[in-house]
Amino acid sequence: MTRVIRVRFAPSPTGALHIGGARTALFNWLHARRTGGRFVLRIEDTDVDRSSADMVQGILDGLRWLGLDWDEGPEVGGAFGPYFQSQRADRYRAIAGQLVEAGHAYYCYCTPDEIRTKREAAERDGAAWQYDRTCLALGVAEVQEREAQGRPRAVRVRSRNRPIAFDDLVHGPITFDGSHIEDFVILRSDGHPTYHLSVVADDVAMQITHVVRGDDHISNTPKQLILYEALGHAVPQFAHVPLILGPDKKRLSKRHGATSVTAYAEQGYLPEATVNFLALLGWSPGSGDREVYTRDELVAAFDLAGISGGDAVFNVDKLDWFNQQHLWRMTPEELVDRVRPFVERAGLWDEAFLTTRRRWFVSVLELLKLRVKRLGEFVDLGRFFFEASPDYEAEAVGSRLKVEGMREHLEALDRALMALPEFDAARTEAALRAVAEERHVKAATLIHGVRVALTGRTASPGLFDVMVLLGRERTHARLLAARDLAA
Ligand code: GLU
Repeated sequence: MTRVIRVRFAPSPTGALHIGGARTALFNWLHARRTGGRFVLRIEDTDVDRSSADMVQGILDGLRWLGLDWDEGPEVGGAFGPYFQSQRADRYRAIAGQLVEAGHAYYCYCTPDEIRTKREAAERDGAAWQYDRTCLALGVAEVQEREAQGRPRAVRVRSRNRPIAFDDLVHGPITFDGSHIEDFVILRSDGHPTYHLSVVADDVAMQITHVVRGDDHISNTPKQLILYEALGHAVPQFAHVPLILGPDKKRLSKRHGATSVTAYAEQGYLPEATVNFLALLGWSPGSGDREVYTRDELVAAFDLAGISGGDAVFNVDKLDWFNQQHLWRMTPEELVDRVRPFVERAGLWDEAFLTTRRRWFVSVLELLKLRVKRLGEFVDLGRFFFEASPDYEAEAVGSRLKVEGMREHLEALDRALMALPEFDAARTEAALRAVAEERHVKAATLIHGVRVALTGRTASPGLFDVMVLLGRERTHARLLAARDLAA
């Protein structure tokens, strides 16, 4: 019988879902979907003070927006719950107790002060210090004495004095010198588990077969391997995914344009573009130069072996590029659905965009999409299409409309345009060029003025496309309004 592949994403809800976490979640999800396995979401909220329900919600929202649905976990349940570590404390305590029973772990009564004193003394002598096993050496009477005094006790696991090795799916064989690993605490004296205990206890209980997580956890792995061995449980396969750095090769931060996943959503990135971008941050399908993939294509191509061992570099321009690629591949119907919330939020939505003005609305989006990277920009760049009259930028008016003769040029152009038999791009352009010639003004000067007249700005999509989409009536009204602003 082949075992079902089970992977997990195990965020600590002490912050929002960021690029690194989202990519870890994505690799886990892709591996599960590729192999017909199960994707488990487990919330590692043992640090009660730093965790919050809002953060959990933000993480769930971010994953849902990306389309990374989980088969087991918060809000969906599953056979291995609960999926919040804060609800599993008794299990961790029971396991710590079993490990003590079995002789793999022991109670430690040393106080933090005693340990600090010893560590500082060793450091003064320039020596590295690790726990000196004071409490492992206690005799029965000494233990009884401490128990009788009600001394707080932590649980420490006995480490190994030999090499500890594992085969990482990304980095290959990795070996640690066990003698450098002290007998580490798995249960604190206040009854709280440490990360090593909770993560291994849950990965065992939830039958996780592959642990795909950030590189920063490599150094934790030997301690966790010691725990697997102590528990007599087979070790899952590990795949440690390299860090994501900024283009300057420094740790990724806001400075590099990296934000929470929900902030990307608000800025108008498409989930499919974000997923495509994240997937190629450190993973390669090994199929030449191709970069644009749909979600289904990523699932079909995914293989943990394609994860590179080198650090991945985050570049927000690249994310913009992916967004544009996915925007360009969208059907008009999809585009309308995606842009709508942004137009609504700006207070510019009209239900007729779905009915009588649908064709017009789609044409506007098709025109703007060539210049847009994020959905929000449809509103920024296209506002003048949706508003009754444009918001004239003072600077644009000053430089392009307050020009000698512009008033008369605009009037003449208006007359010529109103007389056209058909109001299309070729005819409106020919009319403008004829007016410019008659009036001995450069076509460019007139174009600049008309652009401000129609859009309020100095930059816009192609002027004649704009004119045609505004239509004859609105073009007329705007040319006359601008005439009154002109010199
Ligand atoms: N909760 C840990 C973190 O957010 C992840 C633990 C793991 O993947 O093993 O870093």
